[in-house]
Parts: sequence; structure tokens; C-alpha cells
Amino acid sequence: MTAQNRLTRLFMERRSGAVLVISLVGMTLAVAARAQSIEPVTYAVRFPAPHTHYAVVDASVPTDGRDRVELMMAVWTPGSYLVREFARHVEGLSARSPDGDPLTVAKSRKNRWVVETGGARRIEVSYRVYGREMSVRTNWIESDFAMLNGAPTFLTLADDDTDRPHDVSLELPDGWSRSVTGLTPLTDRGAHTYRAADFDTLVDSPIVVGNPTVYEFTVEGTPHALVNVGESGVWDGPGSAADVEKITEELFRMWGETPYKQYVFLNMITESGGGLEHRNSTLLMTSRWATSARPRYLRWLALVSHEQFHAWNVKQLRPVELGPFDYETEVHTESLWVVEGITSYYADLIVRRADLSTTDEYLEALSRQIRSLQTTPGREVQPVALASYDAWIKYYRADENSPNTSVSYYTKGAVIGFLLDMRIRAATRGLKSLDDVMRLAYERFSGPRGYTPHEFRAVAQEVADENLSDWFAQALDSTEELDYDEALEWLGLEFAGAPDEEESETDPDGWIGLVTRVANGRRLVAQVRRDTPGYSAGFNVGDELLAIGDYRVLPNDWEDRVTQAAPGTDLSVLVSRRGALKRIPVTVGTRPDEQWDLAPIAAASETQESRRESWLMAR
Ligand SMILES: [Zn+2]
Repeated sequence: MTAQNRLTRLFMERRSGAVLVISLVGMTLAVAARAQSIEPVTYAVRFPAPHTHYAVVDASVPTDGRDRVELMMAVWTPGSYLVREFARHVEGLSARSPDGDPLTVAKSRKNRWVVETGGARRIEVSYRVYGREMSVRTNWIESDFAMLNGAPTFLTLADDDTDRPHDVSLELPDGWSRSVTGLTPLTDRGAHTYRAADFDTLVDSPIVVGNPTVYEFTVEGTPHALVNVGESGVWDGPGSAADVEKITEELFRMWGETPYKQYVFLNMITESGGGLEHRNSTLLMTSRWATSARPRYLRWLALVSHEQFHAWNVKQLRPVELGPFDYETEVHTESLWVVEGITSYYADLIVRRADLSTTDEYLEALSRQIRSLQTTPGREVQPVALASYDAWIKYYRADENSPNTSVSYYTKGAVIGFLLDMRIRAATRGLKSLDDVMRLAYERFSGPRGYTPHEFRAVAQEVADENLSDWFAQALDSTEELDYDEALEWLGLEFAGAPDEEESETDPDGWIGLVTRVANGRRLVAQVRRDTPGYSAGFNVGDELLAIGDYRVLPNDWEDRVTQAAPGTDLSVLVSRRGALKRIPVTVGTRPDEQWDLAPIAAASETQESRRESWLMAR
């Protein structure tokens, strides 16, 4: 636990007492004085040849008089639960004394280096980092810009449990004008110099360098900026910035508290995807065409809303396991259904409440989550609490069998968020909602300790004023099907089939349930889902689909040829498996009746309509 964390807890415990606030001020000064006395690690980052995708880092590391110091590079980064071995992109590491004398360096672990200091008070360590992975957890460096994350860029003192400041100064190549990050600028030390209060803050603060377009706005006195890299005449900068501002206003309204002093949205318009949350920033990736097409734009708005929601839900209000972090070891938690699932539920809802989507568009987004869950066979195998615990070895290590064996804590967590919201509304006759649960949990469990799975459930139960232990046990700890009846009844909604599915009742399409893809002009089996005709018949992932009966099936004809076969027909499918031909007999089935499109019932009462209104508008 860090001193800053102890202070935060003191604040959380005592914030109601005016007298104690005075002692808090005293503590603040004491802690500030102690932090001053800890010598910082400083980094100078240069890009002498950015087109080769390298950054050069010169780190100056205090030794506190020790004969040898051990340096460490993180193996993972918070918010993304996979050991990524960031040290693999480090090369040419050397160390010298402040006088320039070379020092002996030896590897002591896959991600650690021991330096013999020769008694020097500081050691100067230089290394290169290769960065050419366009993801929100890694680095990208090219001729026009660089995107740096803390974990894959900065090595630090191993086993250092002090609140040691980490200062970064960036040397920009010719033609680059700007650096943007959530870190605090050290303006007296020149441009592009920043301070992280500790290593956690450094890891939690991605940096973008180049010529981004920056749109600044203020919500309730708090400065925000949308930082677009690669806007280039296609992306609608001003329009998107105005919409991000509306999302921010809606989040402020919902939570009623501001968890940061400033916030930056680092939006990489790089034909990639994903987002990662940080304490006062987020790193987003998108296609440049996302502002040109409505469905894509709605997904981008939901991504913005999701990542910013995390500034409250996980960066402040968090499970006990998610901090302080050991950057060299996996941490396991059952609570990612809260962290990611409830955040995913609110992502679309906040977009709706900010009036950036229609009710139909919102119901479609929620229906997509429900359909995705209800058509994943793994929901009958893995409870969502376990999906959360096993994120490191399942969700982040997905393979062709994942849909059969696991469930997404994003998707099932979002659906549970919806059902829990309606459970609370029904239990309190509409007086309370999941919003109240989140606010109360935020008030109680933001701080150094966080919440246990039991404590989060207890807060929901307190707001509902009803025993929810069986409800939670079924939804979170079991693989029983979720019950939608109460939520639909409360809101006056029903599941309707898509129109073409209704028509097909008279003339059902044939279906064998294989998920296929086309690669190099060949139709290949991509997934074999449990309990489908294809699964029973013995198709394998990787089988190339060549012919049905005695007739060749061209790659683009496969779907038509299967759907035109009447259910009950026996087919003989010729496949190529690792180059050997094989015939697989299969009996065509009927596509399961998948009616997961939420729609208002025709005879909804005024009460149901007003409940929908209060859910979707939160006013
Ligand atoms: Zn998330």
C-alpha cells in the first residue's frame, strides 16, 4: 500500500468530520514533504529514426547508495489480462555512471536486469524499445507519430515500494509539434516534460506524440480534450468532439462526482479497434470511416462512453484484487462482470441518455448483447464469475473452441446489469435503480481497498431492500439460463423475431450450424458449435468445404446450397482435411428459433411507458 493510498483512505473514512479535515491537511503536507525527499527516476525519450519504429530511452535511476540495483520491465498492463512479455521489445541495454564509466549489467530474470553501480548515486541506463503493434496496450512508432504506453516503455527499480516520482521528457523529431498525455506537465522544465507521482501513474498514462488535432472542452469546470491522431479530412473532428462532450455531461450527471482534475481522450484513427481505460485518460482506436456511417459511429460513441465510465467504475470503484498491482504476476478477480459487464451495459445506455441514439437504436444494441449471450453454447458451461477469474487463460487466449467452453464477462455481465437494474426498479416500485447501486458502491469502495464480490452484492441488496442472494447465485455462480420475464414485464417489452425469420416458419431454411470463412478462395470451417448438426456429424475446424453430393460447391455458394436443402435431408459433404479428401454425412436441421429482438409490446400500459422513459432518460 502506498502512502498516497493511505491518505486516500483517511480521506474516505473521515471526510464527514470538519475537525478531522484539518489533520488531513497536515497529513497532506507531511506526505508531500516525504515524496519530495524521494529521488525521481527520470527518462529522456528520443525518436532519432521514427520510421524504424524505435524509441530510445535514457533513464537516470537513483541507487540510494546501493552497490547493485535491479531494474524491472512490466510483463502485463492493467485492464488487459494477459502476460505480454514487454521486455521482448527492449534491446541494446547498457548502463554507465554519471561520469560516463561503463557499468556491468546482467539479466537476472526474463524482465529484470542487475546493474553493478560502482557506488554511483545514480546510474544512467540506455535502451531501445521497438514499437509496431497497433493495440491499446502496446507501442506504435512511425514517421508521423508515436503512441507510447507506460508498461512496454519504461523500466523501473524492481521491488521499490516507495511513492517515487517518475519524470518523462520527450525530444520531438523535426516536424512533430505536440505531445499529449494525462500526466502532469512540469512546465518549469520546458515543453514535453511530465511528472508521474509514482510508477502506477506512469503505467496508467499513455502518451501520444506527433501532430494530433486537439478539441478542448470543459464540463462543470473540468477540462477535457479529444485528441485525434490521423483525422486527415475524413473523420468529423468537431462533430465527434461535440458528441463526446455530451457523453461527459451525461456521465457527470449520473455519478454526481468527478474522479479526475482533467481528462484526455487519445483517439487513434488508425484502422484498428479497442479501447483501454486510465485514471484520467483513455486510449481508443478506430477506423477513419467511423464518423461516415451511423452503425459504426454508434459503436465508437459507445466505446468512448465505456472507457470514460471506467474512470469511475474500476479506476476508483474497484475490486479488491485490482490494485496495488504487481506488474510481474497475474491477478485474478471474480468481479470483471461488474468492471466490464456493467460498464458495457451503461456504455450504450449513456449514449441513449445523452440523446445521441434513438430508443430503437438503443434496444437494438441491447438485443445484440442478449442474442450474443443466448447463442453462445459456452454459457451452459462456464459461470460468469469463473469467466472473470479465468480471463487470463480463457478470454485473452480465445481459440476456435472458446464459444463452446466459455462465456464473455463483457456480454453476460452487460445482460446481468440490465436484469439487475430492472430487478431493483421492480423491488423498489421504481424508486431506485442500478444507478443508485453504482453511486453507493462508489461512495463506499472508491479508495485503496476496493470491494469483495460479497460486498458489491450487499450494496445492491441494500438498495433493493430485498434479499438478492439467490438471484446473484443463479446469475453469477451458475450456468442456469437468465430469466428475462420480470425485466420485460416491467418495461412492457417483448422478444420479437426478425421479419424474415417469421416468414421462414412456412418454409424453413436448412441449417447445419457451421461457422465458416473464406480464405485464399477456399471455404473453411472456422467454428463447430456444440449441439448443431455439424458438431454431431464430425466436421472439424479447418476442413475445406468442397462439394455436396456429387456437385462442386464454390466458396461463395456454400451458404445458399445449405439453406436451400430441406430440413431432414441427408447430405454427403466432401471436405479436404489437411489435404486428404473425406466424405461427411450430415442430416440437415432447422435453425433454432432465435427471437432476441427487444421491441415494445403493442398494448403497453402508460405505467410501462413511463418506466421506459425513466430508464432511458434518467431524468
Ligand atoms: Zn472496459
